[in-house]
Amino acid sequence: MEASFSLCVYCGSRAGVSPEFTEVARTVGQWIGQRGGQLVYGGGRNGLMGTVAQATLDAGGTVVGVIPKALVEKEWANHGCTELHVVDTMHERKRLMAERCDAFLALPGGIGTFEEFFEVWTWRQLGYHDKPVGLLNTNGYYDGLMSFLRSTVEQGFMGEWQMDLIRVDSEVKRLLPALVQAAGFSPEPRLDEI
Ligand code: AMP
Repeated sequence: MEASFSLCVYCGSRAGVSPEFTEVARTVGQWIGQRGGQLVYGGGRNGLMGTVAQATLDAGGTVVGVIPKALVEKEWANHGCTELHVVDTMHERKRLMAERCDAFLALPGGIGTFEEFFEVWTWRQLGYHDKPVGLLNTNGYYDGLMSFLRSTVEQGFMGEWQMDLIRVDSEVKRLLPALVQAAGFSPEPRLDEI
């Protein structure tokens, strides 16, 4: 078992309307950093992406950013990352992000976040990896998506077992330990949690 866990976080390159989204991104970064964990993410400095990265660094964690060069050229790269990998294509980026982590977590976000979340879920159902996949349902942001997904089971396009491959929770303090433990780690509790 490795010394510490590495969590891949997908989230909005925008902050969203409610301040609670920024708050939860900060909480996720703090949770990772306070346990000496590593964040793997898309390497941007905008929106929730920038917030989770900064919070991880501020709390003592390490941050691996993986960004395609086209986005660097638009000056969206976060040069404060512990490691910033500039890759040629989106496909390379997603492959490297998936390789470097022990578990995946999606926070609220837009189509980029959805695409990344669905990709690692699909890869999991096909057996390309066996890493836990989580969805943080802050403020009920994903309620509509979850009810649509349940309807796809009723309509016969998806099995319950596929739904069971993802963990969905509204609470950071439940979801993150569950993901990290499912990946084979027991993160050190913070002193104030002992
Ligand atoms: P979105 O949810 O549409 O805001 O897209 C965010 C997700 O897509 C992130 O998890 C990133 O991996 C990727 N992404 C989209 N826009 C950017 C950006 N400006 N800089 C870095 N990554 C981005």
